[in-house]
Amino acid sequence: MGKKVVIIGAGFGGLALGIRLRAVGLDVTILDKQAYPGGQAQPLRQGGYRFDMGPSLLTAPELVEELFEIAGRDRRAYLSWEKLDPFYRVYFWDGSYIDYTDDAEQMKAQLSRFSDHDARAYAAFMERSRAFYQAVIEEGLGRRPFTLRELLRFLPKALRLEALRSAYGLAAKFFKDERSRFIFSFHPLFIGGDPFRAPAVYQMIPYLEKAGGVWYVRGGMHGLAQGLAQLFTDIGGRLLLRTEARRIHTRGGRVVAVQTDNGDIPADVVVSNADFFHTYFTLLDKEALPTLARWRLRQYQYGMSAFLIYAGLSRTYPETLPHHTIVLGPRYRGLVGDIFRRKVLPEDFSLYVHAPTRTDGSWAPPGGESLYILSPVANLQSGISWADMAPRYQEAILTSLQQRLLDGLEGTIHTLSIYTPEDFLRERNCTWGSPWGIEPRLTQTANLRPPNKSHWIKGLYLVGTNTHPGAGVPGVILSAAATAQAILQDVGLSEPVRVPAPTYE
Ligand SMILES: Cc1cc2nc3c(=O)[nH]c(=O)nc-3n(C[C@H](O)[C@H](O)[C@H](O)COP(=O)(O)OP(=O)(O)OC[C@H]3O[C@@H](n4cnc5c(N)ncnc54)[C@H](O)[C@@H]3O)c2cc1C
Repeated sequence: MGKKVVIIGAGFGGLALGIRLRAVGLDVTILDKQAYPGGQAQPLRQGGYRFDMGPSLLTAPELVEELFEIAGRDRRAYLSWEKLDPFYRVYFWDGSYIDYTDDAEQMKAQLSRFSDHDARAYAAFMERSRAFYQAVIEEGLGRRPFTLRELLRFLPKALRLEALRSAYGLAAKFFKDERSRFIFSFHPLFIGGDPFRAPAVYQMIPYLEKAGGVWYVRGGMHGLAQGLAQLFTDIGGRLLLRTEARRIHTRGGRVVAVQTDNGDIPADVVVSNADFFHTYFTLLDKEALPTLARWRLRQYQYGMSAFLIYAGLSRTYPETLPHHTIVLGPRYRGLVGDIFRRKVLPEDFSLYVHAPTRTDGSWAPPGGESLYILSPVANLQSGISWADMAPRYQEAILTSLQQRLLDGLEGTIHTLSIYTPEDFLRERNCTWGSPWGIEPRLTQTANLRPPNKSHWIKGLYLVGTNTHPGAGVPGVILSAAATAQAILQDVGLSEPVRVPAPTYE
């Protein structure tokens, strides 16, 4: 009889881990308080329009492919995806823009409009990004638990590659124009990090995008989650939705069960894909953790949150908006400082706009646009009352987009809803309303992140955003590999080793 595993949370981390553990015969139950699998990748439907509420773009699809290989199923029977070109457009405050792509010649031609020096620096920067990618992805640092030994082995290389500088610091070393510095340093924001203090190792993302592409999954990122959930149940996993974990019960320092409103689920292994503080301070009894552990865990700092608008429009903006667009405000360092350090709501903002109708018309009624607008904001440590602030903030964002890019926007809005940091806290148990969790800064990276295997409670593990290697869909799928390794070692099993064979269609 296989060991009983309960995974709390059906985010991409929980689903990927469930598939890995079920594939080697363990008895796996995943439970989630929400109505749909996918964690942050929830779906929204309103008035004939559909929206992905959270993640919107897929990178490193080979990591998803690998899960199907491990489960012995054909990915194409579940999911299809297509590569985007450009990956995204970035509008700068001065009205110029760049269409970010993996084509080196196109990138250099566009950069030369900013600075000839920057166009020449592109290849060298990408080479550095590749070196980080090699360490984290190809040499597998991101897919095994990060031990002290691992750190000591990686440190000389990390120092040589200047991995401990900030992401922005590294970009500033290669590029002169502030616009180039932005496009080659903002990637940590994708994973909830401050580019001015996230270590440069996260500069692997530009090469990860270049090597593997940026993809649109048919049915969106929620469709991706549904595909993984289907795979998990097809191979015999049990998925319980609308089921909240209330407590993780322990006996003699070891997990024994997870309590839900429908009764206790016995467990030899409990994995939390839920928020980190929620796991340690709400789900576990106070007595389960030594005082020193509680003190240590409280030292972790949370990163940013987001304010989201989902708008169904009666017209489209094909000239202005490709599938993914970033619209920058006048400030970079100052704005990031307001969000991460000062935790105030500034007058200006930078926005990310998702227009999936550009690639797939099924997201909106004919002639319409399904638009999602994301503004990075401070987490709830700011003390901002979003119930009071949201209407004004929403209006400011829509007015700004209308003035800068989307002529007549406000008159075309058919349906509209918003999602605030308070919703992340209430609906998804995200501490401080921060869906990206523990901020990826130097002191909270690699073996300084909360470990995949709990130091303090036997049989308790973490998977997803808050553990190694970190946030983002590729990050949490890698975390599932690392956590699976720790669990399988502990229960005396080993994972079937399969080399992923990418088929990008
Ligand atoms: C707005 C937004 C946009 C993003 N865009 C991208 C993108 O384009 N590409 C990308 O790669 N990444 C993106 N990310 C990051 C990415 O979505 C996340 O890092 C990733 O999805 C997190 O997955 P996870 O497995 O850690 O868990 P989560 O998705 O955070 O899921 C955790 C789950 O646990 C559940 N839960 C919590 N407590 C309990 C409990 N007590 N009982 C039961 N269930 C519980 C929650 O309901 C939730 O469903 C984005 C994130 C956000 C918020």
